[in-house]
Amino acid sequence: MNPTSESASQPVPQMNMESKLPKRRLVLAWDMHYNCNYRCPYCFYTSAGWAELAKKNTYKSPQEWGEVWERMHARHGSCQLRITAGEPFTYPGFVEVIATITRWHDVQVTTNGSRTDSLHKFVTAVDPAHAELDCTFHPLNTDFDLFLNNVLLLRKHGFTANVCYLAYPAQLAGMPDFKRRFAQNGVHMNLAMYWGAYQAKDYPFAYSSEERLLIKEVIGQEIGPETVNLEPIPVRGKICGAGQRYAVVQADGKIYRCGQLCHEDQSIASIFAPEVKLLETGRPCPVDYCRCKEFQSAWEDDEKKMMLQENRLQPVDAQKLALGTMP
Ligand code: SF4
Ligand code: SF4
Repeated sequence: MNPTSESASQPVPQMNMESKLPKRRLVLAWDMHYNCNYRCPYCFYTSAGWAELAKKNTYKSPQEWGEVWERMHARHGSCQLRITAGEPFTYPGFVEVIATITRWHDVQVTTNGSRTDSLHKFVTAVDPAHAELDCTFHPLNTDFDLFLNNVLLLRKHGFTANVCYLAYPAQLAGMPDFKRRFAQNGVHMNLAMYWGAYQAKDYPFAYSSEERLLIKEVIGQEIGPETVNLEPIPVRGKICGAGQRYAVVQADGKIYRCGQLCHEDQSIASIFAPEVKLLETGRPCPVDYCRCKEFQSAWEDDEKKMMLQENRLQPVDAQKLALGTMP
């Protein structure tokens, strides 16, 4: 079936599905393994080097992962696991692992939506009350109709499945048309800003005024959750719950405060330790910008809301920082 041509004459309201997962005290972003069936030019892992990263990969059976995550449940209760990889669906036995660990935790899986066979297996084996999917559309690698059909398959089986598109300079021109084609099929296409180099320029700072205008036109609003990081706001010194209410688990099991604080010597724990202990309080952010918007899980609700809806932030108390009196 070609869903785009079938519904082109009859537009349907586009829909960004609300998360139905309950709020959890602890959110963990889990890099399940460093492997992907794509090689996107804008991918952090492609520039970091897949072969080097793959040395951290830890392959366990669904039963073994069940034991690890059941132990985490005993210590921290039900968590929300944000599963990325590379591409999680390339992890051996991925569907069985998810069917097992959703006995204790909820999962939100970021996928490139390419593995049609595994997605069919997923929708029959996993309960949509405990699993949601963020599907990133990579037009340089995939076919629009294949991707869309997989998103619609997930939705048909009751899963919250949203679509994201990266405002990478080389794929800006295609954005309006893809947005229209998704909308014709009832799917809202969310935009994410690109962080990184392109043609020796540093993005998102290098977006031209025309590109910024185009991005805002495609988003459909001047300011809102999707425009965060179009004009990045400095966060250095801001007290952040990364490490306490949010953390990153890498493929070797090591836990870090967040994705930007992942140097070996910054590890705060391991999921394989019998007693997993995270930080007890928030701590100042040591970097300039929260590139991957992890503040959405790590900050207090009001500040997170202010950042997402108004793209602003309470000023960090520079004087206290200078005096070293911030906790
Ligand atoms: S699909 Fe995602 S993980 Fe895979 S290469 Fe592209 S950006 Fe990287
Ligand atoms: S604000 Fe963002 S980058 Fe800074 S510590 Fe928190 S999660 Fe990490």
